[in-house]
Amino acid sequence: MVPMRLCRNYFDGSLPDFRQSGYPLRISVDKVLRTIRGVTPSRMRTRATRAVSLWLVIALLCLPTVALPEPSHPNRVLVMPRNVAEGRALVSTHASRGRKVLRVFDGLHGLQVVQPAGGESVEQTITACRTTGLVSWAEPDYQVTAAASLPNDPYFQNGTQWWLNNYGQNGGMPDADLDAPEAWEVTHAAINVVVAVVDSGVRPTHEDLADNLWRNPADGTPGFNALTGQHDPWDENGHGTHLAGIIGAVGNNGRGIAGLAWRTQVMACKFLDAAGNGYISDAVECIEFARQHGARVLNLSWGNSEFSAALSNALAAARADGIAVAAAAGNNAANLDLLPYYPASLVMDNIVAVGASTRTDEPWILSSYGKTAVHLFAPGVAIYSTSQSTDSAYQTRDGTSMAAACVAGTLALMLQRWPNAQLDALRARLLLSVDAKSALTERCVTGGRLNLRKTIDQPTLAMAWSNQLAQITAFGVPGHTYTIAASTNLNSWTPLSAYRTKPDGRWFFTDFESTNFPARFYRADPGP
Ligand code: CA
Ligand code: CA
Repeated sequence: MVPMRLCRNYFDGSLPDFRQSGYPLRISVDKVLRTIRGVTPSRMRTRATRAVSLWLVIALLCLPTVALPEPSHPNRVLVMPRNVAEGRALVSTHASRGRKVLRVFDGLHGLQVVQPAGGESVEQTITACRTTGLVSWAEPDYQVTAAASLPNDPYFQNGTQWWLNNYGQNGGMPDADLDAPEAWEVTHAAINVVVAVVDSGVRPTHEDLADNLWRNPADGTPGFNALTGQHDPWDENGHGTHLAGIIGAVGNNGRGIAGLAWRTQVMACKFLDAAGNGYISDAVECIEFARQHGARVLNLSWGNSEFSAALSNALAAARADGIAVAAAAGNNAANLDLLPYYPASLVMDNIVAVGASTRTDEPWILSSYGKTAVHLFAPGVAIYSTSQSTDSAYQTRDGTSMAAACVAGTLALMLQRWPNAQLDALRARLLLSVDAKSALTERCVTGGRLNLRKTIDQPTLAMAWSNQLAQITAFGVPGHTYTIAASTNLNSWTPLSAYRTKPDGRWFFTDFESTNFPARFYRADPGP
């Protein structure tokens, strides 16, 4: 469970966004640069330039973590004799010491699997074998684990799903992705979380969706159709079925694609017709159905430029019931800071407004944006997902709709992990976890692209620079112990305090000594 990747996470995209209020820390970037690198602040023309420079400086400071020994079999050792004759002598030695030879591999030069004597540890056995002078080597019988984080779905395996794992295939940029395999090492199921796709419905019989649909306890149906008032949300357009696959296509079933969540409950709420059009009244009815039937996430991949009090009220009611919302920024290449697009532009702490990025971490040319109105970008171009046309059909689509679905799937995995998280904390964690990208700096609040792995697997490092009392909010794996350490030079670190994270992964730390230091940086080391 101890994430060994922590060191590269510490400073990589996880700094708080100081443009947002509510963070107790502030950094004097000028001082940091001068101290660390001797850079003259006056050379840094803008605050943005300084910030980028800080990122670069800090990104270099990846610190090694101590590798823990891999688990091994408690009663087995692998021993390689020097030759066949010494192998026979070794068998006699084992017998005289009370060890048992379990297997001998004649085809592998006499490799032995040895059971230690009663009361003898694996380490003692290895040492004893080495001191006989009869062995080439002796080692523990290490445990290995199936690489379950790579699903067998064919379009994941052949690289079509670039947004999950981008290794440069098809002209992409390596790692312009959600780091899904790394995230899936931690969790790939959101089985308790209901994600409502409020859209054109879903093809409920699709081979890669049927097992992951929410089922109404009353009648077994997968959702609601506001156009008929019935529980028959069959998709006539394809938009909703495509979103459902991005969020929760059945992963590792040997078919089609893998959703961000391999297992989850997708609720199909239909209000868009075959042409993809719908009315606010029907959308509100869908949102109400979702709210009253246990949804924790809404995927809203639609909108327009008119503020609707009815829609706003429906989402406020959803917020009061702890429902998080992923909303598409729209495909109008518009600046939402100037031209709002609802519901993405509604100012509520449970709504995440999402723009679409490409396989090279550029903004999609038609994606709307907004330095204050759009929170982050997520992959939304050349997204291959489930199609409504047949039970085994798939298709490619582009747009901020697909990007919003990436966020909805991420929220589902986060809520599975932290079911009691407050909505503001949930969104803050999501936004703190982006990968900062220069092409997105002026396009959204965070200047970054969604990273699934970081949202669910990182202790976010807070940094302080001041002679004042340092108060730090950090995020880690819930229930795991971390040691917080401080440094004035980013080389030598002093452990200050160990802490077990709360169920929401957060902990708060106050460094009462910080007032005695001119500079203090902090990191979180995973405990034993
Ligand atoms: Ca990656
Ligand atoms: Ca699949």
